[in-house]
Amino acid sequence: SDPALASNDRPASAGNGSGHSPSFAPRLLTDLLDHAVATWPERVAIDFMGRRWTYAELGSLVDHAARGLQDLGVKPGDRVGLCLPNTPYYVALYFATFRVGGIVVNLNPLYVERELCHLIEDSGCQVVATCDITSIHDKVTKVAEQLNLRKLIVCPISGALPTFKAIGYRIFKRGEIAHVPHDALHVQFHALVASDRKPDPVSVKTDDVAVLQYTGGTTGEPKAAMLTHANLTANCAQMSVFVAGQMDPNEQQRILGVLPLFHVFALTSILNYGIDNGAELVLLPRFELKQAVDTVARARCTTFYGVPTIYGALNNLPEKELAKLASIKWSVSGGAPLPFETRQRYEQRMGTPLVEGYGLSEASPIITCNPLDAPPRDNSAGPAFPGTVIEIRDLDDPTRILPQGEKGEICARGPQVMKGYWNRPDATAEVFVDGALRTGDVGYLDEDGYLFIVDRMKDLIIASGYNIYPRTIEEALYEHPAIAEAVCIAVDDAYRGQAPKAFVTLKAGQSATVDELCEFLKDKLNKLEMPKAIEIRDELPKTLIGKLSKKELVAEEKAKAGRN
Ligand code: AMP
Repeated sequence: SDPALASNDRPASAGNGSGHSPSFAPRLLTDLLDHAVATWPERVAIDFMGRRWTYAELGSLVDHAARGLQDLGVKPGDRVGLCLPNTPYYVALYFATFRVGGIVVNLNPLYVERELCHLIEDSGCQVVATCDITSIHDKVTKVAEQLNLRKLIVCPISGALPTFKAIGYRIFKRGEIAHVPHDALHVQFHALVASDRKPDPVSVKTDDVAVLQYTGGTTGEPKAAMLTHANLTANCAQMSVFVAGQMDPNEQQRILGVLPLFHVFALTSILNYGIDNGAELVLLPRFELKQAVDTVARARCTTFYGVPTIYGALNNLPEKELAKLASIKWSVSGGAPLPFETRQRYEQRMGTPLVEGYGLSEASPIITCNPLDAPPRDNSAGPAFPGTVIEIRDLDDPTRILPQGEKGEICARGPQVMKGYWNRPDATAEVFVDGALRTGDVGYLDEDGYLFIVDRMKDLIIASGYNIYPRTIEEALYEHPAIAEAVCIAVDDAYRGQAPKAFVTLKAGQSATVDELCEFLKDKLNKLEMPKAIEIRDELPKTLIGKLSKKELVAEEKAKAGRN
């Protein structure tokens, strides 16, 4: 039979309704912005808690920020860390970094000090941008001092507080906003953008790295996918082809941006796609159900991007609240498997489609998506994205492409596939087979090329759409003096999809309670990493050569869940 090769080579001529023909010809990320500024200068580009910036204003802000970055000494190839919640500052500094030829390093502001330290050191950022929310600011300041960074740019989220109040929001309380010190390390965003001089032009190529996107990959040790300008703009163009025909070209899309932009799903589908299509980005700095719903109603958002847990939450809304989402024309889920019941209920109540896409950081990220204009196939992640080839390869011998219908490792080829891992030639060599990207996920294709994802090869735990690395939790547990062995697995969690559960044994003659261990982990792990449960056991399952084995524990938990 035919090898399981699904390709989707729909010509890139469908027109994406934005006045320019999409193509997968490589572009620079700044080209997306420049095109939008030239085409739709008066359109609203960003709505942040009711404050609006037009495309012309955004373009000018980016130029000012680029000048500021150059004055801080940022040169082509330099890494700029963005440790920011969704704000206009994120958008401005993202494009400004590209304007000066720099590389954006996405940093989750919820990371604990240890994680931030590791990623900033690994990527070699000299300049990092953060905000004035106390918990984030103080943590990032400590890291910056420890690593002797050149500059910390502080973006004043508090600066917009009166506006929040005016429209009835109180998202930050007094005391949640930090006092930014006047010292050589800190520079305020408004000082960064104060100069009227134009940025010096620099030469940037489309195959230059634009973004370092950290991911756990297959080994669990975070490494950065090098995403080039060409990779990211290709995924954006692929999306435009995909959506073509679904939107009235003359109507501006208004996209709710509540998923964090430092995650590649939101980065591509909300920020890059939105700017490329002259959309209004309605940004929210954190997910809070009522606020998200009220914001959709206020800004009359047309498009909603979420992770499965968000759709689960929306499904529990009373009819009156759900009615506030009436402006939504379509919704997209990604990052983790979307339960069939969740999609069905959402579509039934909303009367509009919820499509599921599948991807990974290494592919900028989307490689398959269910079509908007055809009924979904239950539990499928959809066919290959335009211009993408999906191959299913033998789990034991990845050089062998399997026949259609057989289960194997999902591999992908396309212009959106990364250049490799940052400073990790070993890991890069392992993740490619015959030039195809190995996803580490197991799946199969049906006769029409629809992908079904069966399982994950890697041990990653995905909680609320975030990757949790079991090893981080195990390592933190090992720091406790009484712990002999620690192993962490994913267990089902009604709210987060998955959550970590830890199993430990104690050293002979030592004692510790579960409460003590939880207390011990609090400073070392972020909220999502905190184990949902810890079990202290006399012994743990091991493989023949004596390595701790997770399989048995996973099976035990599955059996328990089945009995409940
Ligand atoms: P990340 O690189 O952090 O975006 O994580 C990518 C991983 O998330 C993939 O390798 C999959 O295991 C998982 N994933 C993403 N989207 C889906 C989906 N729609 N269904 C199942 N798993 C998904």
